[in-house]
Formats: sequence, C-alpha cells, structure tokens
Amino acid sequence: MKPALCPILSVLLLAQAALLAHEPVTRARTAINIPDVAGFLTLKCDFHIHTVFSDGKVWPDVRSEEAWREGLDVIAITDHIEYQPHKKDMVIDLNRSYEIAKTAGDELKVMVVHGSEITRGMPPGHMNAIFLTNSTPLNQTNWMDAHKAAQAQGAFVFWNHPGWESQITNGVVRWYAEHTQLLEAGMLHGIEVVNGRDYYPEAHKWALEKNLAMFSNSDIHTALNLDYHVHDGDHRPLTLVFAKARTLESLKEALFARRTVVYSSHRLIGDEQFLRPIFERSIRFDQESVRFLAKKKVTVQASNDSDVDYQLELVSAPEGFIAPKKLTLPGRKTVIVTLESGFRPPGAGSETALFYNVTNLLVAPSKPLRVALPVKLTFGN
Ligand SMILES: [Zn+2]
Ligand SMILES: [Zn+2]
Repeated sequence: MKPALCPILSVLLLAQAALLAHEPVTRARTAINIPDVAGFLTLKCDFHIHTVFSDGKVWPDVRSEEAWREGLDVIAITDHIEYQPHKKDMVIDLNRSYEIAKTAGDELKVMVVHGSEITRGMPPGHMNAIFLTNSTPLNQTNWMDAHKAAQAQGAFVFWNHPGWESQITNGVVRWYAEHTQLLEAGMLHGIEVVNGRDYYPEAHKWALEKNLAMFSNSDIHTALNLDYHVHDGDHRPLTLVFAKARTLESLKEALFARRTVVYSSHRLIGDEQFLRPIFERSIRFDQESVRFLAKKKVTVQASNDSDVDYQLELVSAPEGFIAPKKLTLPGRKTVIVTLESGFRPPGAGSETALFYNVTNLLVAPSKPLRVALPVKLTFGN
C-alpha cells in the first residue's frame, strides 16, 4: 500500500510548485495625478525620445510600453536625422522607428507623434521637428533646407537642450542670429526649458520673452528605468499640454497656442494661468476640521490630491496670527496645519487667508507662484 502524504507536506509541495510556475509579468499603468485646468485636458507628454534607429539602445515599441506604464498620454519618437551609429547593423529608414512605436502605441492608446531631431552644430544646434509626415526630406546638406522641409510639412519645431555643454559658448548659453532668423521665419515654436535632469533658466527667460512654448523632455537613449526610478516615486521630465481633446489635432493646436507647462521632478514651470488652477485644484482644505483649540490654536486639514509635493514659504498671515513659515503639502497626503493667534479673533464664520509662495512652482526664473490659502474660522467656546 502506498503511504499517503501527510497533509502538511502536501501543502508545502503545492506551494513550491506555485513558486516554480512562471507567473506572467503584470503589465500595469500608474496614473500621473495632475489636475485638468478649466476647459482643457492635461496631457502628459515626452516629445524627445531616441531608439536604436539613431543612437538609442531600445527597440521603438518598448518606448510605447514604457510610456503606457508610466501613465503618459503622448510620446514623440525623435531619432537623429544625421547621426546613425548603428547603421552597420540596421536598415536605415528615417520613418521606421516612428512606424514601429505607433503600432504599439495604437494598441495601448498612447498617442505617438512622428518626429525627427535635426542634429547640427551651433548655431543653430539640435532641433526637434514634430508632427512630420515624412522624415526623409529633412536629410539635407544645409541646415536651413532641413528646416524648410519641416516647415513644408507643417511641423512644430523646438530647440533642444540649449544649455548642453556642446551648445554653449565659453560657458554662456547664447541666442544666435540664426535663432532669430528661424523665429522670424515662423520656423521655431518652442524650447526645452528642461532636458533630462537639467533646468536652463536662460531658456526659461527666452521662452517668456520670445513667446516660445516651454518643453521638458527626457531625451532618453537607454531603457527608461535605467535612468529614472519610476517605481520609487521618480518620473521622467514631462511636458504638460492643455488640449481641448485627446487627439493629435488638439495636441498640435495646443502646442502652437503655447499651452504647456514643464513638469520636472517636483517642479512645475509655466504661465500663472496654468500653474494657479493646477495648484488650486490639487489642494482641498477640510473646512469641517477647522476648530478652535484652547481659544488660541486653530487646525486645518489640507489634502493634496496631486502627485506634486508643494513647498510653501510664508509671505504674510493675518494680523495677530502665527502661521508656519515653511509648509510642505505632500502629494496624495493630508497634513494638519496649525495656526496660533495672539488674541481671540472675530466671531464665527469669519474668513481669512494666509499668503504663501510656492517655491517649486515657477512663473519666471526665480519667481515662485504666490497663493492665498483660504481659512474659514468657526469658533466655539
Ligand atoms: Zn540633441
Ligand atoms: Zn536627442
């Protein structure tokens, strides 16, 4: 007679079998929480990405998968026109990386924009042309001819990494006559204020002065998670685009209308008309929680529904109040803010405001967004 396995041993063997079985890798998308602003959808985009079809290390369909998993709505594939280090191992076709990424993007509902990087020395330096219909005509000897070919296709063009060491002169980021020439000919529409981990205040200033759309892009060459710790709260630099609909046409309209904000690490950079509603729609003050403690202290619960950790510095508090000089409103958390008053303030239902600078929301270089935090006070005895 065959001895029966003892029940404990059976369970252990089954558990071991489960461990040995190949579990499928979970494909999961993580949402990026940045609110929409009035009348527009906030699309999360990266418009500067390389693949093996230029000097990248990654096959194009992986770019769509990375973007989907990270919660992006849009990517542009922008392989170099003039630089093909893998050409001995590849069939060079300047449109092919876009085509492969687009097929994968369509399945995942990630919009893929057809782009190319016009790769020239300074001036005018590296420029991305996006919304192309065919990259091949951009392969020209003369840089201006490449730009004319992009313009003939109705492309949107932005200057890449203006502060990159190969594009600066004697340590200075310079705007050349060639950039003015492009701008005046309607051939330059945007500029990277952030590329990778680098922020360029000079480019930020030019964007404001010359009415260029601001961009923040990864310019990624290797696998995304080798450069960005996306599972540990890190994210690639993103361009937020405020579009009327989730279509390529609306995206293009929004870019030409300059409706973008830079989102890099925990910093947002852009016009006040976008930063203010993003902040105000992120933060909720729990008015029910406002209470008067020992007649001198008031606590407010402040919730931040976005992914951005807002860093605040006090500008002014109502007379007689002591408010925190520095305040962090962490993303997806609720914190308690305590106010003290040196006297008993006026009666029930009075409204007041605390004025803070949000130091990681920049409306101009070194100029933070100023916000008023409304506090409604209801006093008991
Ligand atoms: Zn470049
Ligand atoms: Zn590049």
